[in-house]
Amino acid sequence: MRLRNKPEAPTKIASYPQYIPETPEDWKGKWQSRFKNDNPIHIEVGTGKGRFIYEMAKLHPEINYIGIEIQMSVIVTALDKLIENELPNLQLLQVNGGELTQYFAENEINQVYLNFSDPWPKKKHEKRRLTYQSFLSVYEEILVPKGEIHFKTDNQGLFEYSLASFSQYGMILKQVWLHLHESDFEGNVMTEYEEKFSNKGNRIYRVEAQFKD
Ligand code: SAM
Repeated sequence: MRLRNKPEAPTKIASYPQYIPETPEDWKGKWQSRFKNDNPIHIEVGTGKGRFIYEMAKLHPEINYIGIEIQMSVIVTALDKLIENELPNLQLLQVNGGELTQYFAENEINQVYLNFSDPWPKKKHEKRRLTYQSFLSVYEEILVPKGEIHFKTDNQGLFEYSLASFSQYGMILKQVWLHLHESDFEGNVMTEYEEKFSNKGNRIYRVEAQFKD
């Protein structure tokens, strides 16, 4: 994602601990108490400016959502949405998706979304891809047994890599879409990148992959 420097981002983030907890490690194993209910928790890793997670939270009040984004200058835009219109079932976390076991206990999460993850096309950067084996083992640890990853991208190379990565990890590919917007998939919630790239004519790929017991 192209970065615009936002010098106000750290101060703004620190001003809204009710939406982005300052010490998220304190909530490990206790996220449902933060949401004040026992609803399932879905996370999006690499949430960007947050349109997907915000719209999902509006559509599904019976689910708790957490948008995870590493960059302060990007997550502040997601924060702005919450400041403007609070949603009790949405929280944000400004942390590295590779370190989620510091913030979530085993089995604490019910589903992981990955949308338009950075492709990192060079082989030497493979370990940075959010569908690389080390990330999968982090998701597996925090997910419930048989937990799922729902992944969308317009990048064919990353999609092919990810299908192989899921498969090599021993996951089940439950459903695959090679052209999501021309399929009968219902209830698709567009992300910022999805709108941008589908407007350019790119096809959108989607997969639902499930960990085994
Ligand atoms: N999901 C959004 C969308 O579809 O519009 C944003 C897509 S953008 C290409 C990818 C985002 O993932 C960037 O904002 C980037 O900072 C974030 N990201 C990359 N690596 C990450 C990591 N290890 N942990 C958390 N976020 C990460």
